Amino acid sequence: MAELDLEKLFDKAAVRHGHKCPSLYYGVRGAVTALKLAVESNITVKQAVIQGTSKCIRDGAGTVFATQAQLTPVLLEDGCGISLGDGAQNIQLMLNSHVREKVNSLNKQLPMAEFQQQGLKYLQGLSDEDLFKTITLTEKQFNRLLNAGE
Ligand SMILES: [Zn+2]
Repeated sequence: MAELDLEKLFDKAAVRHGHKCPSLYYGVRGAVTALKLAVESNITVKQAVIQGTSKCIRDGAGTVFATQAQLTPVLLEDGCGISLGDGAQNIQLMLNSHVREKVNSLNKQLPMAEFQQQGLKYLQGLSDEDLFKTITLTEKQFNRLLNAGE
């Protein structure tokens, strides 16, 4: 697997996406964090699922998967998270709800350009543990996600 450089991957995703926004960052960081966790857990990543309708999240995570594991992730509208694994061993990352609430409230309070800056700054200041809730998925749970894809 190629080096997982968050900043470089975020820049690369921004080129593909057209701008830097909080959701793009979340997608990139989620995919990077999930891939690192997989390496630590000795999981060979064969498949990935991106849940959520946000084009920003999809572009962010998609950029990472394309450059790292050459994965074409399954896209799913329901839920919000990034899952990956080899079928037998799988992990799922979800944005912690208090983080999502904070980002949503910034989005409501601020004009778009300011929201994009402040939301991004907020997310960049958080640790992986603050940002993500990580769980393991059984083979059955992972397959259910894969089969529900668009
Ligand atoms: Zn965006």
